[in-house]
Amino acid sequence: MTPLHARHRAVLPDWLALYYADPIEITHGEGRHVWDASGRKYLDFFGGILTTMTAHALPEVTKAVAEQAGRIVHSSTLYLNRPMVELAERVATLSGIPDARVFFTASGTEANDTALLLATAHRRSNQILAMRNSYHGRSFSAVGITGNGGWSPTSLSPLQTLYVHGGVRTRGPFAGLGDAEFTAACVADLKDLLGQVRGGVAALIAEPVQGVGGFTSPPDGLFAAFRDVLNEHGILWISDEVQTGWGRTGDNFWGWQAHGRSGPPDILTFAKGIGNGMSIGGVVASAEIMNCLDANSISTFGGSPVTLAAGLANLTYLLDHDLQGNARRVGGLLIERLRGAAARASYVREVRGRGLMIGVELARPSTGEAAPEAATAVLEAAREGGLLIGKGGGHDTSVLRIAPPLSLTVAEAEEGAAILDTALRGI
Ligand code: PMP
Repeated sequence: MTPLHARHRAVLPDWLALYYADPIEITHGEGRHVWDASGRKYLDFFGGILTTMTAHALPEVTKAVAEQAGRIVHSSTLYLNRPMVELAERVATLSGIPDARVFFTASGTEANDTALLLATAHRRSNQILAMRNSYHGRSFSAVGITGNGGWSPTSLSPLQTLYVHGGVRTRGPFAGLGDAEFTAACVADLKDLLGQVRGGVAALIAEPVQGVGGFTSPPDGLFAAFRDVLNEHGILWISDEVQTGWGRTGDNFWGWQAHGRSGPPDILTFAKGIGNGMSIGGVVASAEIMNCLDANSISTFGGSPVTLAAGLANLTYLLDHDLQGNARRVGGLLIERLRGAAARASYVREVRGRGLMIGVELARPSTGEAAPEAATAVLEAAREGGLLIGKGGGHDTSVLRIAPPLSLTVAEAEEGAAILDTALRGI
């Protein structure tokens, strides 16, 4: 154990999980690469857990942050804040939500917490529908709606939560069904649940593609079908776009757009990549929903002019350089290469993905059981080969997660795929 690792263990919580038997200390980054304390260079296919959306040390963002930090770093909530107004205008337009209002937070957890506050206040109910295997953050209320048992360390919750099927397609009672049958089964499950509920339900919260849960997507249109049912019951739809927003999924700017006629959600939450590593989260909702709170509410660090300057520079860069289109093109190539690699490896159950959000689910060839030990072995082998990836899934964490910065080049995609090919064949 390195001295820093020992000091980490001595002073930080056990549940603050680290990757790798010998954890890496990242000291700097550039483009799609990071370096560790020993000077070793890695190709980064996890974008610092999807926070580095565009590129490491992007000069446009670094400059904007330095300039704003050199002018004023100030509590931003009690005075007019130009970057806040400017970014809110742009996010409101991009969100697709009519008459949108935007509230900035310091994290995805706080964004979802705010969404729950709005939905429960608006509907005067603390009953929430959430998806099985979902992840929504680490506050008491976010943990209380998180369906992934590996990330929900308490059975207590300020909310009453009912869990719906629909995120995971490779396991569970609806595994193996085609798109239409799967959708019909999930809608029937939702109706069944609602038939058992007493009193009103405030909202359904869902990730369009489950992130921590292993990059699993429902069939396109599932949320449109859900929405018909929600509308009948007067239930709001919260789309947690913390991982899927800003073009990550290639075909769409937001994850909800894969569901076509669903229209935009009532409430949209975002975080992670928009600050390219700086801590911005936020909530978008119509004025009618956003303004339903009848007391003051501020977030001291939500909307710091420094993080928002990063957000503005980053958003400008990713739109000007069509990084959504890049995610679609380079992500498509990467998925193709990984499917080729999967065909040569015995442990791969499925390669799936949208844009630069790609999951490789591992299972034991003999029994089909989840193979978390294989996922750990591939993570270590990829690191040895100079590539950082993530892992996720349900309790068993048997899915490799690949989410590089959206500026990934074709050559880097080929290089990473070759390292993963070797790592997958090694198990
Ligand atoms: N929602 C989703 C879908 C997430 O993936 C995460 C973070 N992994 C969160 C919410 C919570 O965000 P944060 O860690 O910034 O609080």
